[in-house]
Formats: sequence, C-alpha cells, structure tokens
Amino acid sequence: MKTIRLEEPGRFSLLSTDEPATSLQPDESLVRVRRIGVCGTDIHAFNGNQPFFSYPRILGHELGVEIVAVGSLSKNVHPGDRCSVEPYLNCGHCIACRRGKSNCCVSLQVLGVHADGGMREAFVVPSRKLHPSMRLTLDQLALIETLGIGCHAVDRARVEPGEFALVIGAGPIGLTVVQFAIEAGAQVIVLDINSKRLEFCRQQLGAPYLINGAVDNPLEALRQITAGDLPTVVFDATGNPKSMMGAFEYPANGGRLVFVGLFPGEVTFNDPNFHRRELTILSSRNARSEDFSRIIGLVENARIDTDSWITHRATFADAVAQFPRWTKPETGVIKAMIEV
Ligand SMILES: [Zn+2]
Ligand SMILES: [Zn+2]
Repeated sequence: MKTIRLEEPGRFSLLSTDEPATSLQPDESLVRVRRIGVCGTDIHAFNGNQPFFSYPRILGHELGVEIVAVGSLSKNVHPGDRCSVEPYLNCGHCIACRRGKSNCCVSLQVLGVHADGGMREAFVVPSRKLHPSMRLTLDQLALIETLGIGCHAVDRARVEPGEFALVIGAGPIGLTVVQFAIEAGAQVIVLDINSKRLEFCRQQLGAPYLINGAVDNPLEALRQITAGDLPTVVFDATGNPKSMMGAFEYPANGGRLVFVGLFPGEVTFNDPNFHRRELTILSSRNARSEDFSRIIGLVENARIDTDSWITHRATFADAVAQFPRWTKPETGVIKAMIEV
C-alpha cells in the first residue's frame, strides 16, 4: 500500500509499505483511510517548528475512514461503516483519564503527532476511537476532529447565551471556536489582521462583530461593541506569544481568558492587572471522546456546515507536491483535504 512519510522537516516521501497485519486484537479495527484534513500541526511539523516532534513520522490526524474489519469485541463499529477517528490514544488509568479527561492523559499519544497517523491507505486503530455516522460525507467526517478543538475550548469556558465572546485569530482553529461560541448563544467578536478571514467569519459562520487589528485599535473597538464593558470571555487561537500576552488586556473584570493555540515558550503577564480583574486563565487541549458524537449530531442536523471550509484538494499521490504550497499564507488555504 502507499504511505506518505515526513522524513525530516521540509521533505515528504511517497513509499510503498506492507499492508497492516490481518490478525486484529479483539478491541481493534482495520480501517481504510479515505480523507485526510491538513492542519496547522502538520504544517508546523513540515516546517520543523513543532515542539516534541520526532522524525520520520506519518502525519494525518483529521481522518474520514471506512471500516474494513473489526475485532471480536468491537461492538460499536461494523465493516463498511464510515467513521471519524478520535486520534487521542490515552492510557485509561492515569489521574487525568480516571477523572474523564482523556484529552490530556499523562501519556497521551496523538496519531500523526507522537505516533504514526493516517497518511497511508490503511491502518489499525482501537475501535473505541472510531465514531461512525451513516449520514455524514467522508469530508465531513474528516473535519470532526478539528471541530472538536473549538467545541472543547467553548465547553472549558462555560460560555453562556448573550455574553460577549472575543475570538482572536480566524485560522481554522479560531473558526471552530467561533462556530461553537455562536452555537452556545454568545455574541461573538472576531479579531484578526486578515480581512479575507474576517469576512469568511461573517459570511459563512454569521459572526456579528469583526475587528481588523491591522486597521483598528482592538481595545477601543471592543469598548465600543460592548458599551464599555469588554468581553467576558476571550479565546486566543493564534499560538502567537505577542497576541497571547496582549490578550490579558481584553477580558472584562471577572472574565476568563482561554488559550487554545500554543507556542513553545513562556507566557508572562502583569499580576496587578490579572488580580484587579480577578481573571480566570484556562488552557484547552484536544477534545473529549463524547464531543465527537455530539459534533457528528450537530453536523448531521446541519447546525454546522463545514463544506465551505475546504478550499484546496489533492489526490494522495499529488499531496507530496502540493503540500509546500499549503504552508504559505498567500495560497489562501483554510482547509486542504487529501483524497485517498
Ligand atoms: Zn489538527
Ligand atoms: Zn491516561
């Protein structure tokens, strides 16, 4: 079968590899990969600036798959089912897992990041990590994981109907936060420096308030939108240290600040500013298992429509040649999808 492997920063190779062994453990399934979404994590790995990353690695953690065969104890899936893959392999017994936080397991292995992922025609996964849907397309199934990031971040913040929620950064992850903050009933404000991305948030997601940080003073604009109050919840989805540290200026007194994006370094803040406002700071990592079935339901019921997010496509064989272009902002990629 064909496999795409990232050999080192900047160099993929298209390999011919052995098919996975056909003898499955009772709790495993053999899947055929049909769609692979490309995200910022993959681009960071390609550019060589993903922390804790080792090469060579098979990328691919946003997956739409078809079940080929299931182990004897795998009751949630059947051959022929189409599934989204929850790529977070957790241990099941550490302190985080025991408390239901499988998304931040002490020894978490994310497929396509810490362990080999889905840029290959077939592979074996624990069956409990497969989330089937009879109705979603393979494209939609491949985008469930990315939606999970925004879903979990909004859950972490316990967003309430009617409150002002600021989302900084309208990249793919920011879009998912905008989507779920709107779903939670918040009055969403999006801050970015790219007018095309801001317009996408208004037209495709219905975000009512946009601030272009390249043109407007964000703090003044926020005061104007919120009648002087400032937003009660702020999400930073940039992974940019300057933005993350600047974000401490934006929440209202008593508000929360949620870091969705991350970067390999220190975040510092002024303690009197933090204390005076009694801010709550939260990080958000991955998504929980139960989020996958909830999101599948929302997409099935057309509450969320991700079709317009896919701006670029390639076949499996072409992906190696196309990938470098997708890493360039001027290409205008929101989401690139590889078809296997
Ligand atoms: Zn991703
Ligand atoms: Zn664990």
